[in-house]
Amino acid sequence: MTMPYGFDTLQIHAGARPDPATGARQTPIYQTTAYVFRDADHAAALFNLQEVGYIYSRLTNPTVAVLQERIATLEGGVGAVCCSSGHAAQIMALFPLMAPGRNVVASTRLYGGTVQQFSNTIRKFGWSAKFVDFDDLDALAAAIDDDTRAVFCESIANPGGYITDLPAVAKVASAAGLPLIVDNTSATPYLCRPIEHGATLVVHSTTKYLTGNGTVTGGCVVDSGTFDWSASDKFPSLSAPEPAYHGLKFHEVLGPMAFTFHGIAVGLRDLGMTMNPQGAHYTLMGIETLSLRMERHVKNAEIVAQWLEADPRVDFVTYAGLASSPYNHRVATICPKGAGGLFTFAVKGGYDACVKFVNALEIFSHVANLGDTRSLVIHSASTTHRQLTPEQQAAAGAAPNVVRLSIGIEDVGDLIADLDQALTKAVA
Ligand SMILES: *Cc1c(COP(=O)(O)O)cnc(C)c1O
Repeated sequence: MTMPYGFDTLQIHAGARPDPATGARQTPIYQTTAYVFRDADHAAALFNLQEVGYIYSRLTNPTVAVLQERIATLEGGVGAVCCSSGHAAQIMALFPLMAPGRNVVASTRLYGGTVQQFSNTIRKFGWSAKFVDFDDLDALAAAIDDDTRAVFCESIANPGGYITDLPAVAKVASAAGLPLIVDNTSATPYLCRPIEHGATLVVHSTTKYLTGNGTVTGGCVVDSGTFDWSASDKFPSLSAPEPAYHGLKFHEVLGPMAFTFHGIAVGLRDLGMTMNPQGAHYTLMGIETLSLRMERHVKNAEIVAQWLEADPRVDFVTYAGLASSPYNHRVATICPKGAGGLFTFAVKGGYDACVKFVNALEIFSHVANLGDTRSLVIHSASTTHRQLTPEQQAAAGAAPNVVRLSIGIEDVGDLIADLDQALTKAVA
């Protein structure tokens, strides 16, 4: 399907068609590892990428392929590769670009797990990350050096108080001849379409809003198809003969699909971070209602954030959807349908009051997840960020007095009543 279908139509139909074998209207779960070749010539053509088809489910699977096309369409990209988690998607995005000694310049405002992955784990591959404040465009430009191969940020940065000026960041990356990778997990393509703002690649943790009900982990890398991998000699995996695929020049042969094909033919083949068809099925179910859920997440988040901001038991609320937020002016251009459903707030009474507050909540679940239909809460300082120093906690927006909320799609009056009773117990 092609535009000009609207978002609500595409979130249901893009990539899917009635099953050619049975007429099944819903996308079947192709629970199979391998696919029978018609004959030896067919097998050879598939392995040579001369014909597109299914070989083995570590590489491709028809259920997963529908999800890939659906997310690529919603993001306005040319292709996508799904994988086993959001963290896998980040490695899959960097893998064709990086090599030992190369670095990625990343925003300081990232999901905590990404900071960890980029600070320590990628060093085992000989890669490294330099973290800078992406509001300081001169610092961003200055951090880029001859070994930089990508620029990485989140559109609406987890935990939600910060919106990245994507066009400005894209301009700096483009001037340096580098791809911009945007993690669009918190925003989803319903609220923000990073490719329209200059992103080269978009990554997702489909675990969150895209699936939307806390059932499966998954990830996705979407390629805009617009980057010229052959403009410099910086990206030899795509522009030069690739030794990992019998010397194929991916960009020359596959054009705008080079990145996606490399991700499948080399990335999934050799790293094996594959999404399984059952997981893809749950995520396809979720995406069918993405716009409806995101509208309600945003509406509820706005009402709850305003209520908290006016409450004397609360010190401050960091939600870009509030007029008081220093990032509120970016909503209109970057995410015009709203600033998402995720934010933090500070409870008067500090660490102890936060712990009492989290324990007293009844509807909100205390979990390390976000983007569920159910409302979720986490006190980062006593959980995910407890290993960090107070200074590191504050820099990550996880100071001891701060609680993160992921606002669900329940009745907002019930959510406020729950927060109210828990705050009363917390500050008693
Ligand atoms: C959860 C999350 C990730 C990691 O995704 P997993 O599916 O948990 O591996 C990456 N980025 C953001 C913004 C996230 O919220």
